Amino acid sequence: MAVDNSADNSAGNSAANSVESAVRGTARQSVSVIGLGDMGTALATALLAAGHQVTVWNRTARKADGLVEKGARRAESPAAAIAASEVVLVCILDYADVAPLLAADGAGAALKGRVVVNVTNGSPAEARALADRVSDLGAEYLDGGIMAVPDLIGKPSAFVLYSGAKDAFERSRGVLDSFARSVYLGTDPGLAPLNDLALLSGMYGMFGGFLHAAALMRSADRNVTAFTREVLMPWLRAMAENQLPAMAAQVDSGDYGVTGSNLAMQVSHDAIGDASRAQGVSTELFDPLWELMKRRVADGHGQESIGGVLELLHPRERRA
Ligand code: NDP
Repeated sequence: MAVDNSADNSAGNSAANSVESAVRGTARQSVSVIGLGDMGTALATALLAAGHQVTVWNRTARKADGLVEKGARRAESPAAAIAASEVVLVCILDYADVAPLLAADGAGAALKGRVVVNVTNGSPAEARALADRVSDLGAEYLDGGIMAVPDLIGKPSAFVLYSGAKDAFERSRGVLDSFARSVYLGTDPGLAPLNDLALLSGMYGMFGGFLHAAALMRSADRNVTAFTREVLMPWLRAMAENQLPAMAAQVDSGDYGVTGSNLAMQVSHDAIGDASRAQGVSTELFDPLWELMKRRVADGHGQESIGGVLELLHPRERRA
């Protein structure tokens, strides 16, 4: 599916909160997978299962053995892997190592006419720079952000964000849809990493909240598994569904008018900090948000919602 989460998407109806593309019936294509760590191996396994002609290369060659037993062809170099297939999927640890790999020992010449799909995690600026280099070598470039762990590849909850060459995305759907739902964000190659990193930021915020909550429960000798399943998850789901869309609309409009819980009420006293300290729980995770909430109230925004804290992270005037 295509997603428009540009700032002027006023309807807000197709943003990344409505990810919905289906794994399609896939046409058989040739695809090379460069990088066979946990994720690259999962991708190659799913591609083989979908019936594609899969060529693999990994710096440590023995990691390809299991895939070769399942029917993959082994390439002896990155250049050979690139030469073997229409679509070249790159999944290695560091973005900085991708460009040298694609330029080494004849690989650059082999790139002409290929579609490079790089799902190595990086930044928007890195994606734009690599897209320029790849297109200078006569290939088309797609950047991908995998929103799944290896075990979820090929399962319904897995999706991958893509940005870059639109025609190449459409032509490669047979391959891409074999391992996850494909979400196309736009021609700017930086969009996939931007959205990927924003989603990971949301995830780490949730993990941070979980860790503090779990520490509080354990400090009172409570069972964290039962707490998480029975009350924390329902609570977080309800908060996500009820609060996040409204806060997002406030951020987009700049109107932080409160809809129930004003910020001054929330910082009126430090109940979480006091209880945590009394139970021997560090407040290191909670403190940064707490300080920002207090600062926002001190700046005169106590009657607004917590969404206004965003103005302390990135003032509206700084928008691109
Ligand atoms: P692993 O650590 O399991 O594997 C890393 C891979 O990168 C190995 O194949 C390794 O080769 C290769 N590699 C590292 N440096 C180089 C280099 N200089 N030249 C060539 N190959 C190199 O990582 P993952 O497979 O888990 O992750 C790969 C990418 O996927 C990362 O960018 C990660 O952010 C992304 N990703 C991973 C997810 C996950 O849950 N695992 C989720 C979403 C994205 P060698 O075997 O020789 O060491």
